[in-house]
Amino acid sequence: MTKITQQLLNDGIIEEVDVTQSSSQPRSGGRPQTLLQLTPRVNHSLCFYVSTENICGNLIDQTNTIIDAYQQTWDLTQPENALSVERFVDLIKNIAIQLCGRNQLVLTDIKIITVATQGKLAQASGNVFYSQLFKDKHFNLTAAITAATGVESKIFNIAYCSSHRIQQLYPQHDSFIAVLLGYGVGVGIVIDKQIILGPEGTAPEISHVTYSEHGPLCYCGARGCAETYLTYHAILGKIARSEPRLLPDDSIMKQLEQINLELSRHNTLCEQVIREAGRVLGHVLSQLITIFNIKTIILNGEVSVFYPLLKEEIDAYLSGHSDYRYGAGSTHILREPDDNVAFLGLIELTNESYLV
Ligand SMILES: [Zn+2]
Repeated sequence: MTKITQQLLNDGIIEEVDVTQSSSQPRSGGRPQTLLQLTPRVNHSLCFYVSTENICGNLIDQTNTIIDAYQQTWDLTQPENALSVERFVDLIKNIAIQLCGRNQLVLTDIKIITVATQGKLAQASGNVFYSQLFKDKHFNLTAAITAATGVESKIFNIAYCSSHRIQQLYPQHDSFIAVLLGYGVGVGIVIDKQIILGPEGTAPEISHVTYSEHGPLCYCGARGCAETYLTYHAILGKIARSEPRLLPDDSIMKQLEQINLELSRHNTLCEQVIREAGRVLGHVLSQLITIFNIKTIILNGEVSVFYPLLKEEIDAYLSGHSDYRYGAGSTHILREPDDNVAFLGLIELTNESYLV
């Protein structure tokens, strides 16, 4: 056993597991066989998954196990509901104290507090340039969380979390573009096994790339941003405005399922809205594909439930509007159906964010 291993055992970070010896294969002397594993309920962290619909705070341990969770729903889709940084940090602190208290921990036991959300976020510096959640712009969120709680903090773009997880699920793809289609539109660009980021670790964003200057008004103030066609709010809103009684007064997932059912019945309105979303995706992806020469696209998130029709439209757009016209090849458009991918990625990233 090495010195480091012995130290980790002494500190309770790892533990020995009984390995039952098979009687048919008696041990032939030498060092005893031991299996080491990370000790559960050690090195706790808090990770917050925050969307326009809810905030979900999770107490996790170093084995990526969720020990306890707290959820609160809200509606931040309207700009007037956006939170101030102070209110958000207060909430993080209150949830943190609650989750710790319920589990015989105190804030100083927590290794790190992470927040995953959408928006232009600098993951290395903790700066938030803008996010639909906040009325404030250009502030340092991690510094504010650390000042309030005394705990180290990090922020992640949700699409980055999902790309991190997808990398492990699809090890055969060294380079791919992951598109997270949910309450917002996220993108992760992986090149030669590296998730690429901008200055200060800024996650790439396609939400406010213009598709049409005459398109719908976006909350950012511009018209025809990719988000105004691609989020489930955009899709459900368009269908509800044209045919108010088509969709059930139910959860977002149930409403999306209903649209899928309508698509199988060749409902013209639903087909129009989803095909348009596919064209917008094709428009944005054609530029990324032409710039980076990436051949694999992996769609994920609730809206990827329309994968067959989206793929048809993306393929059609790419064949006419990318360097594939020069015979550069063709794209593989895949779908990862697990909507939990981004959340699992956040848990892993949280535990990779601190040194034991
Ligand atoms: Zn916009």
